[in-house]
Amino acid sequence: MKLNDVSLFRQACPVAGNWIEAKDHQATTIRNPATGDALGAVPDLGAAETEEAIRAAVIAQKLWAKKTAGERATILKAWHRLMIENIDDLAMILTLEQGKPLAEAKGEIAYGASFIEWFAEEARRINGETIPGHQQDKRILVLRQPAGVVAAITPWNFPNAMVTRKVGPALAVGCAVVLKPAPQTPFSAIALAVLAERAGLPPGLLNIVTGDAAAIGGALTASPAIRVLTFTGSTRTGELLYRQCAPTIKKLGLELGGNAPFIVFDDADLDAAVEGAIIAKFRNNGQTCVCANRLYVQDGVYEAFAAKLADAVEKLEVGNGLERDVVLGPLIDENAVAKIDTHIHDAVAKGAGIVSGGKRHALGGLFFEPTILRDVDASMQVAREETFGPLAPLFRFRDEQDVIEQANDTEFGLASYFYARDLSRVFRVAEALEFGMVGVNTGLVSTAEAPFGGVKMSGLGREGSRHGLEEYTELKYVCLGSI
Ligand code: ADP
Repeated sequence: MKLNDVSLFRQACPVAGNWIEAKDHQATTIRNPATGDALGAVPDLGAAETEEAIRAAVIAQKLWAKKTAGERATILKAWHRLMIENIDDLAMILTLEQGKPLAEAKGEIAYGASFIEWFAEEARRINGETIPGHQQDKRILVLRQPAGVVAAITPWNFPNAMVTRKVGPALAVGCAVVLKPAPQTPFSAIALAVLAERAGLPPGLLNIVTGDAAAIGGALTASPAIRVLTFTGSTRTGELLYRQCAPTIKKLGLELGGNAPFIVFDDADLDAAVEGAIIAKFRNNGQTCVCANRLYVQDGVYEAFAAKLADAVEKLEVGNGLERDVVLGPLIDENAVAKIDTHIHDAVAKGAGIVSGGKRHALGGLFFEPTILRDVDASMQVAREETFGPLAPLFRFRDEQDVIEQANDTEFGLASYFYARDLSRVFRVAEALEFGMVGVNTGLVSTAEAPFGGVKMSGLGREGSRHGLEEYTELKYVCLGSI
């Protein structure tokens, strides 16, 4: 591995202010999904280390919360600067463990760092309120205070940004964190902790535990000291954690699965819609929870859109993310390959046609051809389930009402997209879509400034923006009497 600063690749976890080295412990080997090569190892930690981390976090948090928001922001801004200075190394580590192309990995580091900067700034403005009293001698104050110790559980598809989107606001408002990164991609999270330490973050505030997910998750959810659980991952695991948090009544942030519709109306700018579809569908090789999963195209432009999309998809280079010009890396694991394969076979068996791709890539391993299917309908598996891979299924629709019904016919409600030019249609459709986020004439909506999150089975709470900060705070009402 070619890094400018090899100390960023650390095979160890920071727990309670100490680093637990993989070499001193039972450990798990992490592999590069593009080649299958071993990258390194992380320690197998469990409930005992998680509890130790929580105990240290409780102590560290109390001191951290006493600092001013400005003092905390100074450290977070130093952390942000270090991330940007080390962007090449952080991107290299990310590509090696996750597979996305290096340019895309750099984009993720910049995006991930933006959460640290945004929340460092925004935490200085979490103002309380004063409310006129309900009696002559009373005054009402509302304080916003840090919630306490936060448990964060993150997925493998954004090994950097999903960490910073949670840890940034938590630390900025005065919370401490115990983080369980995804087992496939721990090194990006660990590199962030190395830089946090270098930025001057006090020990015990950012703990990382790798190892047995169920044991670590069990300890995190059972602990009464953990006041917030923030999770990004599958709806199945989210539901389990939700249940496990009930006995201790934690605040919950859940970013779960999606089943995003991407709608192209007759009046859309078709070239722009194709460009948006490539981003919304094929970014991170289709492995994001906001990826377009169902592409609805109106009758009048169906053939033209399918042809233009096929031209664009043919240009997408597949390969090892370290190679130049590659835009689609490998899928994360064999299960991911099996899932896209199943969705394609199911759809074709029920009458869908293959426009391009459709099978494992000639490169072998975890590589898959970017695929477009046509004549897809609601009876097919892909209409209900997130593929999480490079499959663009084209559905057909008649009119606005028809497509709104089809788009909303899902238990999920995370992202949605549509392309149209008629202004009144833009408002009508944006308001009618039952999703937490709507991209109008754009295939990319995520940014630190905006509230990211879903409705229905896609989750609870918001990340990013002022709202994402408030998730890590509690309101305290102070009633002043005898005035
Ligand atoms: P995926 O199937 O895409 O990996 P998961 O929801 O299983 O999605 O994983 C998201 C994160 O949740 C990962 O960090 C994973 O290790 C973690 N996870 C999975 N099962 C549990 C569990 N029982 N308790 C706590 N965390 C879990």
